[in-house]
Amino acid sequence: MSYTSTRFIRHFGLSSAIACSTRDIGYLLITPAKQKLCTAAFPMAQKGSEELLAVVGGGAAGFYGAVRAKTVAPKLNVVVIEKGTPLSKVKISGGGRCNVTNGHCVEKVILAENYPRGHKEFKGSFFDMHGPDDTMSWFSDHGVDLKVFPINRCVVLQTGKTVRTASANGGKFLLGIGKQATSPIEYVEADYLLIASGSSSQGFSLASQLGHSIIDPVPSLFTFKTLDPQLAELSGVTFPKVNAKLTLESVKRNVQQFTQVGPMLVTHWGLSGPVILRLSAWGARDLFSSGYKGTVTVDFMPDLHIEDVKSMLSRHKLQFLKQKVSNSYPPEFGLVKRFWKYILDRQGLSGDDLWSSIPNNTLTSVAFLLKNCDFGITGKGQFKDEFVKAGGVPLSEISLNTMESKIHSDLFLAGEVLNVDGVTGGFNFQNAWSGGYIAGSTIGTRVSDAHLRGLDLA
Ligand SMILES: Cc1cc2nc3c(=O)[nH]c(=O)nc-3n(C[C@H](O)[C@H](O)[C@H](O)COP(=O)(O)OP(=O)(O)OC[C@H]3O[C@@H](n4cnc5c(N)ncnc54)[C@H](O)[C@@H]3O)c2cc1C
Repeated sequence: MSYTSTRFIRHFGLSSAIACSTRDIGYLLITPAKQKLCTAAFPMAQKGSEELLAVVGGGAAGFYGAVRAKTVAPKLNVVVIEKGTPLSKVKISGGGRCNVTNGHCVEKVILAENYPRGHKEFKGSFFDMHGPDDTMSWFSDHGVDLKVFPINRCVVLQTGKTVRTASANGGKFLLGIGKQATSPIEYVEADYLLIASGSSSQGFSLASQLGHSIIDPVPSLFTFKTLDPQLAELSGVTFPKVNAKLTLESVKRNVQQFTQVGPMLVTHWGLSGPVILRLSAWGARDLFSSGYKGTVTVDFMPDLHIEDVKSMLSRHKLQFLKQKVSNSYPPEFGLVKRFWKYILDRQGLSGDDLWSSIPNNTLTSVAFLLKNCDFGITGKGQFKDEFVKAGGVPLSEISLNTMESKIHSDLFLAGEVLNVDGVTGGFNFQNAWSGGYIAGSTIGTRVSDAHLRGLDLA
């Protein structure tokens, strides 16, 4: 029997973090602050006994991978080692607005386009093995909503422990674990190792101790600061659809351009909204190199040709000759009055001017401004809802079909520890679920196959 979240809460109370149902499934309740899990001593792998999978990181990829491996190979010992609060990011991004996957985007080629780092590689079979549909089915098959994370009851969770060192020797992995840098180190030997440590520097260090290279992490998904005092007056104004082009010049004077279409929001420090976050993600590395200085050119009317915008302005002028320019503008523009005033200011027009006094070449300039409005970027803002880092272990160093390292067999990496990041909308979690699932399936299948081979030989 499995529990829905309500049944789970009724049965175990909010303070319980884990409970084991009559099936082999337990639940880690991630909404309450306190978490408690079947904590136990590390199951040590010993010759002749079942093997041990150690998972570094109790986040989305780590838990998903651990549960999957245990489901495929029930005899495998699995321990998840988490330095902080398990599934803390799933919890942060929850609260009813949780974008844990992108249910609208199931076609793998379109899905892949949402990953500035990963888009080429993800056009292969990665999402075929476990895509957004599979993730949603996985959660609903367990009969729970996403506030409760189902875990296999024999997965052991060790919290408050940081994996500090990792080495490979004789087909095993030796992990050095300590609470703090100065704490005594406890060693664990594992047959399989899954590094799912997100964007933590300690996780990158473990991967590099095992021979992997690390692409320096830089921020992705942020807003842009601008130095336009008049723009601040538009704070809160949204544009449902703009075409925004980011132009960056590198120290070597190479010009990079990135273009996105979508909603934009003006904030009191600059520009935000999905279109800006996507530009920040696609331009993450070049923005970092340029010191977050560049230009965003916004087309506020991407569905209208400039000639149409000019004609609309001319028609409006003829119709409203005696009216002040600040009082009316073509309704087809769909703009708010505050923004129209901003455009007039930028064009050096007084709102008190009458339409009749505006020469046609000024109308042409207004049309040009509406189609090509430049904003100087002076820095990087913060976006609190979703942020990730671009960088990590290069995808070329793992096999995406198995998530196994090409450097060490039985070493797996999944989630944000890899050089993968997506735009907003659940794509980052989906990378973690897919990668964790594929790693868990590979490990579980390998263990079961070896077990069956052992039975055959016996
Ligand atoms: C505020 C915020 C909101 C977000 N909202 C969304 C969203 O709505 N949708 C979306 O798709 N993405 C969102 N993201 C991004 C998403 O959370 C990550 O992409 C995703 O969690 C990555 O999963 P992961 O398992 O790779 O890493 P994490 O979820 O970061 O898990 C890694 C875990 O490893 C632990 N760890 C690291 N190093 C060690 C070590 N040496 N020893 C032991 N433990 C270690 C960490 O404590 C952490 O718990 C958000 C991110 C943030 C910060």
